[in-house]
Amino acid sequence: MTSADPRALAAAFAEAYGRPAEGVWRAPGRINVIGEHTDYNDGFVLPFAVPQGVSVAAARRDDGVLEVRSLQAAGAGVAVPVDPRAPEARRWRETAPQRERWAAYPAGTAWVLREHVPDGRIGGASLLIDADLPQGAGLSSSAALECATALALCELYGADGLLGAAGRRELARLAQRAEHEYVGMPCGIMDQSASLLCTAGHALMLDCRSGLSTQVPLPLADAGLSLLIVDTRMRHELVDGDYGRRRAECERAAEALGVPALRDVKDLPSALDALDDPVLRRRVQHVVTENHRVEAAVGLLRAGAAAELGALLTASHISLRDQFEVSWPGADVAVEEAQRAGARGGRMVGGGFGGSAIVLTPADRVDQVSEAIRAAYRRREWEEPRFLTAVPADGARRLL
Ligand code: ADP
Ligand code: MG
Repeated sequence: MTSADPRALAAAFAEAYGRPAEGVWRAPGRINVIGEHTDYNDGFVLPFAVPQGVSVAAARRDDGVLEVRSLQAAGAGVAVPVDPRAPEARRWRETAPQRERWAAYPAGTAWVLREHVPDGRIGGASLLIDADLPQGAGLSSSAALECATALALCELYGADGLLGAAGRRELARLAQRAEHEYVGMPCGIMDQSASLLCTAGHALMLDCRSGLSTQVPLPLADAGLSLLIVDTRMRHELVDGDYGRRRAECERAAEALGVPALRDVKDLPSALDALDDPVLRRRVQHVVTENHRVEAAVGLLRAGAAAELGALLTASHISLRDQFEVSWPGADVAVEEAQRAGARGGRMVGGGFGGSAIVLTPADRVDQVSEAIRAAYRRREWEEPRFLTAVPADGARRLL
């Protein structure tokens, strides 16, 4: 079964829970074209939704329990009160074994919604989750899981205020809060916004300070281009460690510079002069130039020059590698080999230290480029990378 088939998932739900699903919702993963580690610096990002995503079949229940099962998680499901203040909910948060931890994403989403939507209107539900989105590969399976859950609960319980265009912006914030408060991952707003707001054939230029976004045409196929996602098969565990450290460094730099966020740095040389710590100087150099690269990318796309994005992608990669220091060998090799084989450029994507890279290549060179990367991995005796062609797709929606 693929999770793109809502009827199969509804049938699996009926099998698992012994009653029919009321609906099936799906939220996509995303690829961020450019703008990495800019989101929590109040800057710009340019993601698009991919066709792969997380589907959730769901039905209400009247006992105030949220039960979640996932076809990608071994073992039975997890059942917790939908009221986050219930002692049982607290107890689960404090004592859940590792194998149940994934459930903090959907349960956390339900808990945040329960607190946010007036009158405790969000009640219990049974959920069955299925995904064709690799986890921890930088495609944001976590936000897809949160957003599919959020959409399902809002529709099932008539939280209509969160379902329109403005509502979805708010819903993105709530899903982000779930990840902050219940998963302990201080993520930015990009992943949830992309999953909820993207439209097919477009990227989403998102201002992470205001939350405002605009659709930017991304006609890859028409321009004779393909955007390859290279899953380097090197995994990240971002919850603890380096991601939080990078955020803290950016905050320290902003404070030292007397600006609310690094987005507000206007004069880069003076800012670099003002910082004693060479590490903070490198971080600032990346964030400030990366914001400008997003704006340049949007300009190129609006001008109909998508192929020229390649050079910006590569510049972004070098900055992430040398200034922000979050790249990893699998991504460096993929970007170098891709260019040698005729790609326009590429970069690591996601928080770093593992996950995926993207490569922009003429469509007729996809095979050469992917073979060059594969061969380079073989020479190093690394696990074979996986390739996906990224097609800008629609955001979260109800399927059934
Ligand atoms: P990313 O968002 O880049 O894929 P994260 O580490 O942020 O990586 O989120 C991955 C986590 O999300 C997984 O470890 C798991 O806990 C949860 N998750 C994602 N998809 C599923 C799924 N289909 N079933 C169960 N848990 C999932
Ligand atoms: Mg994530």
